[in-house]
Amino acid sequence: MKTIGILGGMSAASTQIYYRELCTLARHRLGGLHSPELLIRSLDFARIEVMQAAGEWREAGKVLNAEALALERGGADLLILATNTMHKLADEMMRGVSIPLLHIADATARRIRDAGLSRPGLMATAFTMEQAFYTDRLAAAGLVPMIPVAADRAVTHRIIYEELCREIVRDESRAAYVAIAGRLIERGADCLILGCTEVGMLLDQGNVPVPVFDTTLVHCEAALDMALDS
Ligand code: GLU
Repeated sequence: MKTIGILGGMSAASTQIYYRELCTLARHRLGGLHSPELLIRSLDFARIEVMQAAGEWREAGKVLNAEALALERGGADLLILATNTMHKLADEMMRGVSIPLLHIADATARRIRDAGLSRPGLMATAFTMEQAFYTDRLAAAGLVPMIPVAADRAVTHRIIYEELCREIVRDESRAAYVAIAGRLIERGADCLILGCTEVGMLLDQGNVPVPVFDTTLVHCEAALDMALDS
């Protein structure tokens, strides 16, 4: 089994989900006492969020690159970056790194195409919804992503940073997310991407009437596939 290097802490709330999910998947796949070989680097998200808000992407890219190189030196065979937003810096992160990065948008797009779907609604941070790095990647994979209207994007973003990244889960926020997903579906979305690694704390297949692709869960499954592929 290959060692999965996880660059996480963005936020710590979702890195805990990655760890739990990877352990559960490995136990189900391999049985017995099996668990995944992992190397987890969890950053202080307060430091990263300051850089995001200030638009200091070059500095953030340097941080991710140093951490990716350290994970490789530490023995990781492949890397996952446990946040959608910071995939904006995937190229910068991978500079000089020779092990592969399993890109979260590629893993998600593959699953959507395999399901025969093509018009995913995307609920994520404002960075992920509004900047081209993520939607262009989905479009390059043959999908037609749809993002919420401006007011809904603002609510989605605020709840991620003010609540979900702090492990605060509120019924009224879940209701707001269900309503935003509903408006995307009304506009023609045939499935929904939970395009932020914390959004699964509020939405899942139980409260969304179209197929749901939770990027955290999809990413974990694809990473384990890669780790077990000899
Ligand atoms: N985890 C989130 C994501 O998947 C947001 C936090 C961050 O900006 O990294 O985009």
